[in-house]
Amino acid sequence: MKKTTGMDRSVTQKWRPATQAVRGGTWRSEHGETSEALFLTSGYTYDDAATVAARFAGEEQGMTYSRLQNPTVAMLEERIALMEGAEACRTQASGMAAMTAALLCQLSVGDHCVAARAAFGSCRWLVDHLLPRFGIETTVIDSADNQEWDKAIRPNTKVFFFESPANPTLDIVDMDYVCKLATAHGITTVVDNAFCSPALQRPMEFGADVVAYSATKLMDGQGRVLAGAVCGTEEFINETLLPFQRNTGPNLAPFNAWVVHKGLETLSLRAHKQSENALKLGQFMEERIAKAGGTMLHPGLPSHPRYDLAQTQMDACGPIFSFVVRGRKQAHAILDALQLIDISNNIGDSRSLMCHPASTTHAGMSEDDRQQMGVLEGMLRINVGLEDADDVIEDMDQALASAGV
Ligand SMILES: *Cc1c(COP(=O)(O)O)cnc(C)c1O
Repeated sequence: MKKTTGMDRSVTQKWRPATQAVRGGTWRSEHGETSEALFLTSGYTYDDAATVAARFAGEEQGMTYSRLQNPTVAMLEERIALMEGAEACRTQASGMAAMTAALLCQLSVGDHCVAARAAFGSCRWLVDHLLPRFGIETTVIDSADNQEWDKAIRPNTKVFFFESPANPTLDIVDMDYVCKLATAHGITTVVDNAFCSPALQRPMEFGADVVAYSATKLMDGQGRVLAGAVCGTEEFINETLLPFQRNTGPNLAPFNAWVVHKGLETLSLRAHKQSENALKLGQFMEERIAKAGGTMLHPGLPSHPRYDLAQTQMDACGPIFSFVVRGRKQAHAILDALQLIDISNNIGDSRSLMCHPASTTHAGMSEDDRQQMGVLEGMLRINVGLEDADDVIEDMDQALASAGV
């Protein structure tokens, strides 16, 4: 491999985000390929025994085994770190592998983790079921209430874990407040930034220590592969995450890394265009949903309880919002009437997709937990894609009408 400017931080850190998204992390083989090479290899060979010994001793840089390093994966990790403004990044096989690694790599028996009540179903499962099995105490709170973060701190609190905006309630966390509070108490903040990606929100600018991703969502953005990523300081990644990751092996496959690489080249364009379409659709629906007695949960509309905060934290509203109608029957009737928008529980995709969280992404939780989290029976969540916004609006218009909204 030839070191290119894409792998030289003294050069790439000065590049603007659009340049980093296209060229950051590029590392070329002797063939000089323009597109990043796909190294589908699990192992590596060495010229002599001394070389492999030096690599295993950490005295010489280079690949030894793809659970430890892979060139295609390394290129992606460098690009994500640059876009995030992080010192380092490591990728995982899925968003949940990333969240699990980000938490388990640093928490031990007797530690305490404070987490947002409103969260992706599997993230709540980690907090409610997995961590307690290892003797880690957890508290879930209303993440949109700054005082609740203060009140939940105990002497053994080690991690704050939240999403902003949250899936699927679109709760916004005051990142500046919560991260400062964490720092003052020596607590590490882990932010799940899946709803935004670094193209729309960079939590480290507000003091977050660790940013974790489902790269399945906006980063791939075309509904192809599962992927995850964890960003942090060199110290956190090398000394805390890597010992866990290298020995437990939740690694991202080189092929999937390559696909995400292609996604990142267009991430910013897609994230902004999808946000623009989501804003148009939200504006079209808002009055009608309100008149029908429903609620819009849309961070780009002034009716959102933390609209002003969302404006300061996010560059655009993102492609995802939720709304609440009369109940499960009406929500399902809207889904069944759709002609263009697909019924699908994925998000961040370039296609418009809609789902009913209570019977899909959050079906694994008890009805009580769903109620407390605000995942109501009448809630629908939509990811607005790259289609012409007017076609999406027309489809929503006819689906609402046919369900009596
Ligand atoms: C989808 C999602 C995850 C899980 O990611 P996978 O890639 O599906 O494992 C975690 N957090 C949030 C907020 C998500 O939307």
